[in-house]
Amino acid sequence: MAKDEAKASDFSKGLLKSEELYKYILETSVYPREPEVLKELRNITHNHPQAGMATAPDAGQLMGMLLKLVNARKTIEVGVFTGYSLLLTALTLPEDGKVIAIDVNRDSYEIGLPVIKKVGVEHKIDFRESEALPALDELLNDQKANEGGFDFAFVDADKVNYWNYHERLIRLIKVGGIIVYDNTLWGGSVAEPDSSTPEWRIEVKKATLELNKKLSADQRVQISQAALGDGITICRRLY
Ligand code: SAH
Ligand code: CA
Repeated sequence: MAKDEAKASDFSKGLLKSEELYKYILETSVYPREPEVLKELRNITHNHPQAGMATAPDAGQLMGMLLKLVNARKTIEVGVFTGYSLLLTALTLPEDGKVIAIDVNRDSYEIGLPVIKKVGVEHKIDFRESEALPALDELLNDQKANEGGFDFAFVDADKVNYWNYHERLIRLIKVGGIIVYDNTLWGGSVAEPDSSTPEWRIEVKKATLELNKKLSADQRVQISQAALGDGITICRRLY
C-alpha cells in the first residue's frame, strides 16, 4: 500500500474491541467490494487536514445496502465534505435518481467533484451551498412537491442541530423511508463520564445524548442504533 494511502486506523473510531478487528472487517468485507472510484476519492481525501470527517468505508457499505433496500430514487444528504457518502449515493441511485446535497462549504465538495464527473454521475447531484436548516425549510416550503417525496436521507453535519433536522426530515421522507444519523456514539463518549471526555467533544456529546434519548422516544420512527463507524442511527418512518 502506498505510504499516503488511508489505513484502517484512520477510519477507526475505537468502538470495536481492537484495531485489528476493524482492519479485518475492512479487508475481508469492505475493501474488496468498494468501487474503485470511491477508493480514489478516499485516497484524495486522506491528504485533507480534516480527513477524519469523511464517512468510513464500512459505514458507507451499510448505507449502500439501505439505499437499495428502500429502492431509493430521491434522497437528501446533509454534510457533503469531499463527497465520499455523496458519490456512494450517486453510484447507487438509478439513472433518473436525484440526491439533494447540502453543505455550507462548496470548496471541499469541489475536491471530490473531478472524480464524480469522471464516473458520470454528476447529473444525479443537486448540490446546494447552504446552511442545512434553511435549505430543508426551503424544501418544505414547496410542500406539495416535497412532503413525503424522499426515500432516504443521510445526516452528517453540525451535530448540535440533528434534532432540528429530524423535525424537518420526518416530513420530507415518505412513510417507510429512512433517515440515517451519523456519529451518534461520538467516539464512545456518550457512555463515559464527562471527566474522561476531551473538552472539544463535550458540546456535541451533550447534544448527542439528548438526540439519542429523543429518537428512542420518537414513536414516529422505528430505530436501530448500529455500532459501526462512529455510531449510526437508522430511523424508518412509521407514519
Ligand atoms: N458525509 C461526508 C462528511 C461530512 S463532514 C463524507 O462522507 O465525507 C461534515 C460537513 O458538514 C462539512 O463538510 C461541513 O462543511 C458541513 N457542515 C457543517 N455545519 C453545517 C451546517 N450548519 N449546514 C450544512 N453543512 C454543514
Ligand atoms: Ca460523520
